[in-house]
This record gives sequence, C-alpha cells and structure tokens, in this order.
Amino acid sequence: MSIRLTLEKNDPVTHDTHHLVFTRPESFEITPGQAVDMTLLREGLRDEARPFTPVAMTDDTLEFVIKSYPDHDGVTKEIPTLRKGEMVEISEPWGAIHDEGAGTFIAGGAGITPFLAILNARLERKGTLEGSKLIFSNKTEEDIICREELEAMTGLETVFTVTDQEDAGVETDLIDRAFLEEHCDPAAGPVYVCGPDKMIEDIVGHLKDMGVPEDQIIIEQFD
Ligand SMILES: Cc1cc2nc3c(=O)[nH]c(=O)nc-3n(C[C@H](O)[C@H](O)[C@H](O)COP(=O)(O)OP(=O)(O)OC[C@H]3O[C@@H](n4cnc5c(N)ncnc54)[C@H](O)[C@@H]3O)c2cc1C
Repeated sequence: MSIRLTLEKNDPVTHDTHHLVFTRPESFEITPGQAVDMTLLREGLRDEARPFTPVAMTDDTLEFVIKSYPDHDGVTKEIPTLRKGEMVEISEPWGAIHDEGAGTFIAGGAGITPFLAILNARLERKGTLEGSKLIFSNKTEEDIICREELEAMTGLETVFTVTDQEDAGVETDLIDRAFLEEHCDPAAGPVYVCGPDKMIEDIVGHLKDMGVPEDQIIIEQFD
C-alpha cells in the first residue's frame, strides 16, 4: 500500500544533503531504523522508488535527511528542488536495523540516517545515550551530516573521521582493523554498521577477526 505525504519544509543540512519535514499521516507507524521506498510524483520519476530512512517522527511530522547525487541523473538530484506543499508517495516501512541496546554505531555518509532515528528515539525514551558510541566516517568535515546534533546528544560518545582531508580537526584514518581496535570495544554491546557495501563488508570482516560474535553485528547495506 502506498501512502502520500505532503512536504512542509526542505532545508539544506550540508552542501549535498537536505532535511525534509513531511506531515505525518495519522495512522502511520514505523520502528526507528526502518526505511520506506519513496517515489517523487514528478514527470519521468513515478516508477523510480528509492529507499530512505526517516530520521525522526513526532505526532505531526515525519523527517528525512537525504543526500543528493547530481551526477546520477536519478531521484536524489531532484531533492533540493522539492517545495512546500509538494506530495511524495512512500511504501510501508521495511528494513533490518533496529535498536538492540546500547553499543557501538559505525556509519559511513548517509548511512547515519537509521542511527539518527534509533538514537533520537532512545534519547527521548531514556534521556541519555550513556554506554553508546558513534564512529562516523565521511570524505571531509563538510560532509558530516548533523554533526552538531550528534555532538549534543546526551551521553553519546562521538568519533568522527574523514578520509579525503588531511588538515581536518577530526581523525583522518580509514576505519580499518587498527582503528577499530583503538575505538571499538567488542565487549561494549552490539555493533551496528551502516554505509556503502564495501565499507560494511570490510568492517564486518575486521569485527569478526576481533572476536565480535556474528549475532552482535547488526548491518544495513546502503548501496
Ligand atoms: C535501506 C536503505 C535506506 C536508505 N536511507 C537513506 C537515507 O535516509 N538518506 C539518504 O540520503 N540515502 C539513503 N539511502 C541511499 C539512497 O537510497 C540512495 O542514495 C538513492 O537510492 C540514490 O538514488 P538516485 O536515484 O539518486 O541514484 P541511483 O539510483 O544510484 O542512480 C540513478 C542512475 O544513476 C546511475 N548511477 C549510479 N551510480 C552512479 C555514479 N557513481 N555515477 C554516475 N551515475 C551513476 C545509475 O545507473 C542510475 O541510472 C538508503 C539506502 C538503503 C538501501
């Protein structure tokens, strides 16, 4: 079944991501971390559904953070041009990532979105994210989505790293085995990983080598 949403706000977050706030339909429910398939009701795009993960939901709103890829000539290229009042269609929620307790969250780029949903919901429920750590990798500091929001989350430890900017004020290493040994404690609860296929594959391999049990590794692929 498809559900129509009306756009209330569309604001830039970084140079290539936007925060979209839609009116939440009355009966719509979603588990934080789940995705929906979204279709823009525009000429030539009505058959082009793409998966996105709401980052927050209130009684009245459903919010997304979406990264645009202008060189793909696809759906996300249109995101910056969506205007208040425009409608989109979404599917029923689906997806594997959900909150399995405090632990380590490892994200690459737009792979932060399910974690924003999970962390926001937990913070609202418990008032603190004590015992959770976020490791967030991007190309440059400019690409870090919702950095201030993440840094302000009570109890959350954050480690940012960038791979294409040597003069950055954050870590500048790839999340490899040595990085994980320094920053990820296998005994600190589940390890959530979300990002591009290759990143997930490499990190899951390192985590297994470090002795993290398979049932403690929770992944969602974004490619
Ligand atoms: C479960 C899930 C949840 C997700 N949630 C979010 C989210 O909340 N926020 C978010 O920003 N993203 C999210 N993503 C990723 C998002 O779905 C993709 O970024 C989006 O589908 C890209 O759509 P697109 O039409 O712009 O490009 P694509 O569908 O990748 O490509 C459109 C066209 O461009 C071509 N193309 C593909 N790659 C390239 C390239 N490198 N260069 C040139 N052309 C290319 C393709 O062949 C195709 O013809 C999620 C993904 C998954 C699987």
